[in-house]
Amino acid sequence: MEKQLLDRSKDKALFTPGPLTTSRTVKQAMLRDLGSRDSEFIALVREIRRRLLEIGGVAGRGYEAIPMQGSGTFALEAVVSSTIPPGGKLLVALNGAYGRRIEQIARVLKIDVLALAFPETQAVDPQAVALALERDAAITHVAVVHCETTTGILNPVREIGAVVRHAQRLYFVDAMSSFGAVPLNLADWSIDYLVSSANKCIEGVPGFAFVLARREALLATSGFARSLSLDLLAQWKGLELDGQFRFTPPTHALLAFHQALIELEQEGGVEARAARYRQNYRTLVEGMRALGFREYLAPELQGYIITSFLYPEDPNFRFAEFYARLNDKGYVIYPGKVSQGNCFRIGHIGRIFPGDVQDLLAAVQSTLAAMGLDLSRPQEPCAVSL
Ligand SMILES: *Cc1c(COP(=O)(O)O)cnc(C)c1O
Repeated sequence: MEKQLLDRSKDKALFTPGPLTTSRTVKQAMLRDLGSRDSEFIALVREIRRRLLEIGGVAGRGYEAIPMQGSGTFALEAVVSSTIPPGGKLLVALNGAYGRRIEQIARVLKIDVLALAFPETQAVDPQAVALALERDAAITHVAVVHCETTTGILNPVREIGAVVRHAQRLYFVDAMSSFGAVPLNLADWSIDYLVSSANKCIEGVPGFAFVLARREALLATSGFARSLSLDLLAQWKGLELDGQFRFTPPTHALLAFHQALIELEQEGGVEARAARYRQNYRTLVEGMRALGFREYLAPELQGYIITSFLYPEDPNFRFAEFYARLNDKGYVIYPGKVSQGNCFRIGHIGRIFPGDVQDLLAAVQSTLAAMGLDLSRPQEPCAVSL
């Protein structure tokens, strides 16, 4: 116990959808106290906003980056609550829990909302979105989740964007778990508002999220906000006016994020990060298959952010025990969040490398042995160990 308290150098590896493992240098960047009006801090925020537009492919193309205090959901709520006009209607095309969350945000805000729901194992169909927009002229906005972290499925955000643009509605994308790791371009994909957070693929620490907004759309939202603290236009105006947040900024998280952005650039940008995560994903799936596990999704729908695995059929498999044993070895995985399948999830984002995935696989293998499970052999129905 005493040793554990003293040895802070070896935290557990987080194979989760967040919070994620971050680099030592990102954590070290927080060892400062900056005032919110300090010119250095104001320059730091400006630099962060500039880099975010670059990552979204829209530097100098009529977009704005707006950091917002809170976790990712706060920024989702900021967009829904302050960009849909009174009497507006939101279509949420969804295939998982995070899409449901956007629907729920609209319901709480008493905004008219229509859910176009797909099974968790299927991608959102752009043609179905087109049909829904044709049928209902009251719909003003369409929302979709890019990587639905519920399962790890990747939705065709670009194709849906073309449909939404053709129908002349506004388009909102939750790219929380993909931004920084899946190349995208807001302008080319017709995205008006995109949300992500500091502690997903950019590999900063939790504490704030951010919105990328098409300036013209944003400027037309005056008077729409249904919340003071989540007012997106007011947040942007404050930042433009004097470079400051309206309310206490998460200075330490912003320092860490700035360092994380530098490290993203040093790694080689979004493409290079995508390559590392893809390698993590391949290493994991090959290893897990060799151990006898099967994925929940068809491989062609699966992104390289997080993977859902089915519980093995062996009656001796108990997820709680499996989880606790891995946790004791220093590896944190994640329970499932799907409604239709018995799954657990393993994330492959954050400051982890294929070698870390190999270590996790070795821990999974020894955990299976300790639990008396051999999934790689065809399971004999009646040969129970008595
Ligand atoms: C993580 C995540 C969120 C929620 O973020 P919080 O930071 O927990 O509020 C929303 N959408 C998606 C797709 C996510 O992966």
